[in-house]
Amino acid sequence: MPEPPQTVAVLGTGIMGAPMARHIAGAGMRVRAWNRSREKADAIAGDGIDIAGLPAEAVESADVVVTMLADGDAVLSVMKEAIPAMRDDAVWDQMSTIGISATERVAALADEHRVTLVDAPALGTKEPAEKGELIVLASGPDEALDVCAPIFEAVGSRTIRVGDAGAGTRLKLVINNWLLGLVGTLAETIAFAQEIDVDPRNFLDAIDGGPLGPAYARLKGEMMIDDRFDPSFPARLALKDAELVLEAAERHGLVLPIAETVARQFEKAISEGHADDDMAAVYDAWRQPANR
Ligand code: NAP
Repeated sequence: MPEPPQTVAVLGTGIMGAPMARHIAGAGMRVRAWNRSREKADAIAGDGIDIAGLPAEAVESADVVVTMLADGDAVLSVMKEAIPAMRDDAVWDQMSTIGISATERVAALADEHRVTLVDAPALGTKEPAEKGELIVLASGPDEALDVCAPIFEAVGSRTIRVGDAGAGTRLKLVINNWLLGLVGTLAETIAFAQEIDVDPRNFLDAIDGGPLGPAYARLKGEMMIDDRFDPSFPARLALKDAELVLEAAERHGLVLPIAETVARQFEKAISEGHADDDMAAVYDAWRQPANR
């Protein structure tokens, strides 16, 4: 087995990156964190976490560089700056959700600089990230996955190894398609219940605990009913994920009508001011007059 990483750079300390950095430090690895808006990185300084002023400064002594940034463009622009400063034997553990095309661009950048890439998007949201209970969809060369294993164990409750780099991203897209469809159907069902004078809580109670009632329905359904949209997963990132699913489908000549509809509903909700609200705010799109 390779040596466990001693120093880990974490680029991106947003909703997910901040608790992940804390768990990596909590597991005994030295963390060097960087975030574009410095104050979010400063908020997690101490207890094994040092803050770097520049991406290149964060990565220069790191055994592993974790990227947990909003999207493919953010990952590529930050890493173009940082990658020349990485050590030759360091591993780039890309954990943001960026889809197939951007992952190909990331792989090309890694190749160009002879850096080993691990593609390991994470399943879970704010609360599992805070508890260190994400599910890591790990792909890449076995030896590099072994190097990253202590990081995966620190941030997650389970790691699934799925093959060569790129396979993790493809599995993440499949899971996201399922999740986005679920949230869209939930929003539509709650709006439908209200329109035909059914208390939507009775719907949630009726499906609770049975095969029709995933825990997610209760979690997001209550948020929709109460108009409570504190962000665990912001609507702007849910739209990004829907577009990534559609982009992958298009590459394979596939039409996904449910994903198309949900993406347009996210666009509507975002145009109504819900970009930074939780994805449950997509429910608002079903309440707009245009939808009646
Ligand atoms: P977030 O809180 O919005 O954080 C996004 C991070 O990206 C911030 O550090 C932000 O910096 C940075 N960023 C955005 N654009 C940038 C740019 N152009 N240059 C440099 N930095 C940039 O999002 P998050 O929820 O942590 O999500 C991070 C990734 O994990 C995303 O790919 C998301 O899809 C994925 N993910 C999220 C969840 C979830 O439930 N939240 C679950 C699984 C996977 P600033 O702070 O300066 O804006």
